[in-house]
Amino acid sequence: MAITAREKFDNIIEIKNVTKIFDGITAVDNVNLAVRRGEFVTLLGPSGCGKTTLLRMIAGFAMPTSGTIMLEKQDVTTVPPHLRPINTVFQKYALFPHINVYKNIAYGLKLKRVLTGEVDKKGNPIYRKLSKDEIDEKVKRVLKLVNLESYGHRDVTGLSGGQQQRVAIARAIVCEPKVLLLDEPLGALDLKMRKEMQLELAAMHKNIGITFIYVTHDQEEALTMSDKIVVMTDGAVQQYGTPKKIYDEPANAFVADFIGESNILSGVMKSDFLVEFCGTKFKCMDKGFGKDERVDLVVRPEDISIDGKKGALKGEVVSSVFKGTYYEMEILAEDYQFTVQNTVERAVGETVFLSIGPDGIHIMKKLKTVNEFDGVVSSENTVAFCGGEFEFVNFDGLEKGAEVRVKIPFDKVELTDDEKDGAIGANVTQTLYKGSYYQVQVYTDDDTDFFVDTVDEWDMGDRVGINIKPDDITVTLRERADEIAAEENTTEDSADER
Ligand code: ATP
Repeated sequence: MAITAREKFDNIIEIKNVTKIFDGITAVDNVNLAVRRGEFVTLLGPSGCGKTTLLRMIAGFAMPTSGTIMLEKQDVTTVPPHLRPINTVFQKYALFPHINVYKNIAYGLKLKRVLTGEVDKKGNPIYRKLSKDEIDEKVKRVLKLVNLESYGHRDVTGLSGGQQQRVAIARAIVCEPKVLLLDEPLGALDLKMRKEMQLELAAMHKNIGITFIYVTHDQEEALTMSDKIVVMTDGAVQQYGTPKKIYDEPANAFVADFIGESNILSGVMKSDFLVEFCGTKFKCMDKGFGKDERVDLVVRPEDISIDGKKGALKGEVVSSVFKGTYYEMEILAEDYQFTVQNTVERAVGETVFLSIGPDGIHIMKKLKTVNEFDGVVSSENTVAFCGGEFEFVNFDGLEKGAEVRVKIPFDKVELTDDEKDGAIGANVTQTLYKGSYYQVQVYTDDDTDFFVDTVDEWDMGDRVGINIKPDDITVTLRERADEIAAEENTTEDSADER
């Protein structure tokens, strides 16, 4: 199925402003995405980020709450799955156990009807079944593609997991869909088989030229196989690009942390091409940030060089582990524990100097630093939000029952060990070390995310309480808060245009 040069630059799928809400939970949040014909695109993100829901909407198994899905420039948002030229391979192979490999693959072809090129008396196109020879030719071709040429007569229940998955893929591609969706198809295989199948799938994709959209939470799998990766969290796309772009130039700290080993630090841009972190100025390749703008930056472990005598930062080796072809060392320098990979080992306790070249530093816009919630003034000096009541002080002019926007800076939220000591309870869902503090994400019992900047270390899954001092809560009438946000957006847009 060769792709013409012109078709290669077509978008086969366009997802426009697609949102999916289940019972008040936003699973997919205003996603926009264009997939080119013949590409291998992977949806990557942690469990619950909305990957499967997005895939199911492309397949037609779920309908968007709002937004449009276009396939070859046609709006297919409400078209049922069987009328879309799309097929899906799931983690569970769902093969027919009572028939052999050949018949499993031929099944869909027997149901298929193709145009004869003729029309009936009313002018409607006439369809026909495929002949036995046509079916045989197609089944044999895909058996070869999935490396199961001599397995046609075998009982599917006697095959290994990898072989069964290859039969499932053969069955999905034999009807020549324009797009193949794969939902964690290698999830049930052991590690060795997974790695083999990753390479086979990538080769298969090249050979057949069908557009693949693949779902996984395994970043290595995504980096190995894809032309492009969509990194998602909380239903939203964080970054869309080639594996190299996403690895080398992550859009934000979440992407940097999710893709590969990384040192993520806080810094300050002193000028174009000059950033300060760990008390030291470093040359970098980035420009266009404000003077003294606070930024996040990522340094990959393999981009840090170690010397016994000189370098930008002095540190001490805290640990060292041999990883097969290099040593992974933890080095404490200026209160930040750097992860460093090098082929030469330095002994634990040794004093070393670290250097980082301009191309080893990637600067990212700082993500939000303030939590924002909608709430209601519940008494003269309390505001209710996120399932709790909190005291606040700026209540001048706010009446009981007023709908308000509540703001709390990340570093003003206090977490308590015992949830009973907090105003509300929550679970820790993510922690990122930022150089001199941790950024902790907690999920409240009221289904809201809170961000907390803290020097204390918390573990994922920890049960915590949340407290906020009255002085640290800013409360604004919601209408007024929306006006302020709109004014800020206009200012940013006109700055961008300039
Ligand atoms: P995983 O890797 O664990 O499969 P995912 O990234 O594919 O996760 P989704 O399965 O798309 O995530 O789920 C996204 C969110 O939507 C989750 O909070 C999930 O609980 C919710 N969700 C998904 N399907 C439904 C449904 N049918 N009804 C209610 N909530 C749903």
